[in-house]
Formats: sequence, structure tokens, C-alpha cells
Amino acid sequence: TKGNSVCVYVRVRPTDNFAQDIIQIGEDSKTINVHIKRDNRITVVNNQRSDWSFRLDGFLQNASQDSVYDTVAKSVVSKALDGYNGTIMCYGQTGAGKTYTITGATESYDHRGIIPRALQQVFREIEARPNYAITIRVSYLEIYNETLFDLLSSMPDVMSTDAQMMIKEDSHGVHVKGLSVHLTNSEEDALNLLFEGETNRIIASHILNKNSSRSHCIFTIYIESRVRCLSEAKYTYSKINLVDLAGSERLKKTRSEGQVLKEASYINRSLSFLEQTILALTDRKRDHIPFRQCKLTYALKDSLGGKCNTILVTNIYGEETQLEETLSSLRFASRMKCIPTDPEIIQYYDP
Ligand code: ADP
Repeated sequence: TKGNSVCVYVRVRPTDNFAQDIIQIGEDSKTINVHIKRDNRITVVNNQRSDWSFRLDGFLQNASQDSVYDTVAKSVVSKALDGYNGTIMCYGQTGAGKTYTITGATESYDHRGIIPRALQQVFREIEARPNYAITIRVSYLEIYNETLFDLLSSMPDVMSTDAQMMIKEDSHGVHVKGLSVHLTNSEEDALNLLFEGETNRIIASHILNKNSSRSHCIFTIYIESRVRCLSEAKYTYSKINLVDLAGSERLKKTRSEGQVLKEASYINRSLSFLEQTILALTDRKRDHIPFRQCKLTYALKDSLGGKCNTILVTNIYGEETQLEETLSSLRFASRMKCIPTDPEIIQYYDP
């Protein structure tokens, strides 16, 4: 991933009806051409030309969880242990496979997603680096309707955690003040925290009567590393953000009301702020990037700002019936691909 821009992958949900006439993949899986034929003429669909293409880093079709992990995550995780921040995020409409990709079906070993596999890799690589003293911590944050939830809170009521939390920025980067961060000594420890967070997410969604596809979730692995034999303590801090974004579909305004409309407008707003932020980042003339417009973009500031290895997985249905949402997701992917990156290691000397 030593590239100059965000790495972008597209993963298609398994289907027998992939719209291959419309979404055409280059032979090396590194280009997508969107071609909507209307009497062989190029027209305009949703304010976009009906014929456009972009380069990507890989097209994942009929790919196992194992091979998706190797392609998408493995090198980011290794680099995080070397001190580079890493972010992997999934974007797409509800049902397209974001949670399957990031978390997976945790009850089945083969269907485990990126988070449990990343935890396994982290603890394996630590064993292979005996010269380093490495400490691993994790946290699990949910953002729902501009409210922060600590999914690993020790407080009896996950819901009341927002008042204690605030997104802050200092010389170490962006962090969420008040979010509980848990020391983990083994893969098993960390997996138990992941399961606990998943359970809390479900409980909280029942109590609030919310649909979990309407929230953004960020599982973070914090890595603190020091060379064992150096006389002065030189620490490297890095983190891996694993992000499951809320469903990107635009709800039909006429059909939603009350809570659903409120959720939809918060999501539409946070995802459109994300798009605005991305557009600003790709515009070299812009010097102000509006990261603080909403909690999602503020929380992801380090991930998008260019000093991080950032990976986007765009999950699509790829069927003609879901074309509108698929095209809007691909459009998002093509914009993310333009964000320049130049990752760097951040080191501190501790007194
Ligand atoms: P999202 O998080 O985008 O709303 P999910 O990850 O919950 O979507 O996926 C919806 C359903 O489709 C789930 O039952 C999931 O297991 C299944 N699914 C999604 N992608 C795949 C895939 N690549 N292979 C097998 N099943 C998948």
C-alpha cells in the first residue's frame, strides 16, 4: 500500500445476476467502467454521465473472507506494528456486506471478518518481534444520531456514556476523551471484548429501538511499541481503525417519518459531510478541510488526513435492481481513490 492515494477495493455480494453489461471490470481487476447503455448513447443518470470509469486497487468477487483479509488488511496490520496508523472502512448500502466484511459471522471460523483476523495477526506478529515490548489496547465506539456510545463501557448503562465523551485533538492526534480503552494480553482477551461490544450494540439498539445499520461503528486497536534494549525509552504509537459505516442508501423522503426520518437525516448528513470532506481533501487548492462538521469526520480525521494507510472497501450488490445505490457507492469509491496519502511513523521519547 505504499501508494500515493487511498487504496480502494470493491466487493460484490454473491449474486448470479451481476450487472456485467453496466459494471465492466478491466482484466487486471484494476479498472471499473460504468457504462449504462441507452440505445448506445451516453446520457446523464442522476446528474452523472452514464459512462465513466476509475482505477481501483482490486475488485473482489466470489472472494473468501480469508482472501479478502490477505488482499485488504494484512499489510496494513503489519505496517501498524511498524508504527504506521491504518484505517480500513466499509461503505455501502444496507445489506451489501459491510458488517460481513469488517466483523464477519463471528460464530463461524471461516466466515470471520477483518477485526478478528486482525487481532489474530497482531498477537502472532508480536510473538515474532521479541526485541520489542508491545502493548495492545482496544476500544469500540458507536456513533448514532450524532451521539457517541462506548460499546465497552464499564458503566451499567451504555446509553449514558455520551455525556462523558468528547472527540479531542492533541499532538498525538485525534482521540475520544472518556472512551474506555482496554488493555488486552492475548487474542482471546481482545476477541472477548469484540463480542462484548457486539452484544452491547444489540442491547442498546433494542432499548433505543434503533436499527443498527443506521449507526457508524469504529473498533480501534492501539499499539504501543518500544525497543527493549534501548536505554532511552522511545515509544511508537499507532492505531488501526476498523470502521463499519452506516448504510449509505438514501431513504425515500415521502415514505419515512418520525424516528426513521430523523435517523436518515443524521446519516445522510454525516455521510454527505464525509463526501464533502473527501472532496475538500482531493482539491489541492483547499487549505481548510471541514473535519469538525460532524462526529464521524472528526473521529476519522487522522484516517483521512493522509498520514495513515487508508483502505476503503465499497460493498455493492452489483445487481441491476440495486443499480442506483450501487452507482452511488462506486461514485463514492472513485472520489476516495483521489485522496492523496503519505503515511508517516510518529515516535515519542518518554521521560
Ligand atoms: P451490511 O452490514 O452492509 O448491512 P451485512 O454484512 O449484514 O450487510 O450482509 C447482509 C447479509 O448478507 C448477511 O446475512 C451476510 O452474512 C450476507 N453476506 C454479505 N456479503 C456476503 C458475502 N460476501 N458472502 C456471504 N454472505 C454475505
